[in-house]
Parts: sequence; structure tokens; C-alpha cells
Amino acid sequence: MQQKSEVIYLRAHHLICINTFSGLGYSDAFINNMARIVEALNSPSQPLRIIDRLDDICAFCCHSNGRQCLKNGKLVLEMDNKVKEILQIDLSADKIYTAGFLNKKVERAMKKGFFCKVCKDCEWFTICCQLLKCNG
Ligand code: SF4
Ligand code: SF4
Repeated sequence: MQQKSEVIYLRAHHLICINTFSGLGYSDAFINNMARIVEALNSPSQPLRIIDRLDDICAFCCHSNGRQCLKNGKLVLEMDNKVKEILQIDLSADKIYTAGFLNKKVERAMKKGFFCKVCKDCEWFTICCQLLKCNG
């Protein structure tokens, strides 16, 4: 019998970051964890919940103190809010998405300037922009 995948918990703006991950990050532990999550989310049936706090990516980040993001909390929350609004994300505790469903939503939004709207103030913007080769 196939094992059921564990739910992955993501804050909303990380739905974009998983599309721009190229092996860079804040530390080896962060990068290894990110690579594991990106690989899992390549499976369309991977269950996924969107949350409004530190997530499974933040868990391995040196900028987390276990309660909040210490890097640029205000910007992070702004990006999360934009993604939630544009993608109309349901944050209910019982709402489990699949990676395939949310990846398609992101893909459609990317064609309408989603990346620039959300990411323009992030320090990684230039790198991610080059990787995406998007049209704005
Ligand atoms: S620019 Fe920042 S928020 Fe946007 S995808 Fe890249 S790392 Fe993530
Ligand atoms: S910088 Fe902040 S939001 Fe980004 S992964 Fe680290 S703790 Fe999470």
C-alpha cells in the first residue's frame, strides 16, 4: 500500500519561492530543506496547507526565532497578504489543498504580473526575476 504524504505547511508567499528555488539560500540546512520541500511539491497530489505564520521552510531558516521572522517581518507579511488576496487562498484549518491545484493557480497568476506585484521589494528579486524570465 502506498504511504500517505505528510501535509506540508507553507506561508502564502512561499508558493512563489518554490518556483524560483535554484539551490541558493541562507545556509546548507535551509537549502537542503528547501530542496526536499520543492521536490515533494512537484508531486501534484502532495497535500498542502497555507498558514499565516512560520512554516516548514522557515523552520530551517536562521532568521526565524521559532515565533516569527526576524529578517523583515513587515515585508514578509505584506507579501503573504498579497498572495492570499490574489490567489484567494482559504486559510481555514480544515482546508487542505493539493500542490497541483495551487501550482496551477500560481502559473495562471504569473502570466498576469503576479511576481512583480508580490516580489518587487524582496532582496532576491533580481535573481528570481532572471530565473523566471517572466514578462512582469
Ligand atoms: S523575490 Fe523573494 S519572495 Fe519572490 S520568489 Fe524570490 S525569494 Fe521568494
Ligand atoms: S526569511 Fe523569514 S519568511 Fe523567509 S524563510 Fe526565513 S524566517 Fe521564513
